[in-house]
Amino acid sequence: MIQTAWLGDVILTSPLLQKAAAVHDRVDVVTTPAAKPLVETHPAVDRVFTFDKRGTQKGARGLIRAARQLRLNGYDTAYLPHRSVRSALLAWLARIPERIGFGDTAARWLYTETKQREGASEIERLVRLVPGPDTPPLRIWLAEADRLAATRELEAAGIEDPFVVIAPGSARATKRWPYFRELAMTLASRIAVVAVGETSDRLFHRTQPRTTFPLADLCGRLTIRESAAVIERAAVAVVNDSAPMHLAAALGTPVVAVFGPTHPCLGFAPQGEEHRFVQLDLPCRPCSLHGGDRCPLGHHRCMRDLSVEDVLSAVEAALEIALQEERTP
Ligand code: SF4
Repeated sequence: MIQTAWLGDVILTSPLLQKAAAVHDRVDVVTTPAAKPLVETHPAVDRVFTFDKRGTQKGARGLIRAARQLRLNGYDTAYLPHRSVRSALLAWLARIPERIGFGDTAARWLYTETKQREGASEIERLVRLVPGPDTPPLRIWLAEADRLAATRELEAAGIEDPFVVIAPGSARATKRWPYFRELAMTLASRIAVVAVGETSDRLFHRTQPRTTFPLADLCGRLTIRESAAVIERAAVAVVNDSAPMHLAAALGTPVVAVFGPTHPCLGFAPQGEEHRFVQLDLPCRPCSLHGGDRCPLGHHRCMRDLSVEDVLSAVEAALEIALQEERTP
């Protein structure tokens, strides 16, 4: 399978991998260096190859080099969930005889077989690439070392269960809700709070305010799987429409997701009644499938007008149920 899209898209292909493993003797994956850690622990996956399309393998030369490497493995079939011409070219240049992708893409002329993108959720659409009615559940797998590292960091920060995890980042600027810092400080008056993400997502750059409960800003301190291990332990995950949202859903942690330029109806939101979405009813929403770097209207009201109180009430409702379930034997 070749999937070199955003991290969240790679996470959503986990059920497709499961399904492919039931049909083929061996499943290898080509993905980005950033997504490799999320795929290499998947029990259905044999080997993971990285394609650094924005770095060392950028451009036509990089593509040809990567294709040459893949060609040596003599694959029979390539599944192409990412509707990208570059991925399709990679499979074609690697001389993989059967190339299966979706029919609604500019790359379809490079496929030997096309499928309809049908289904309410992205997972339902993706699994259609492989024959059969099954839709395996969304899951990702962590190593024990990831959980141990997460525990060490949490202990060092004085965090005990239960706690809320927040992930203030998102790959696209318009999908980032701007008030996570205020939310974290408000929440820390009633429960411990942990922030995870990239260094650029840090909530507190210099001094951190005093709070009643511990508030640990671990952004930039953990690998992606260690961050996932923190998310797995949390009572509730508060996120944007982002990779951490899919991680939380895949690990069984109730999600409170803030949606701005995108919308849960587009099919990328977690499925299940335990998950909550906070969003405004604006005529310009959704303006994009995956969010962009600038609001096309310039005001970014879909996120800026969503108050801390709006998100807080959803978190409190989710917490009440999560903590009650924890107490129930
Ligand atoms: S156009 Fe509307 S939905 Fe899109 S980013 Fe701007 S405010 Fe948000």
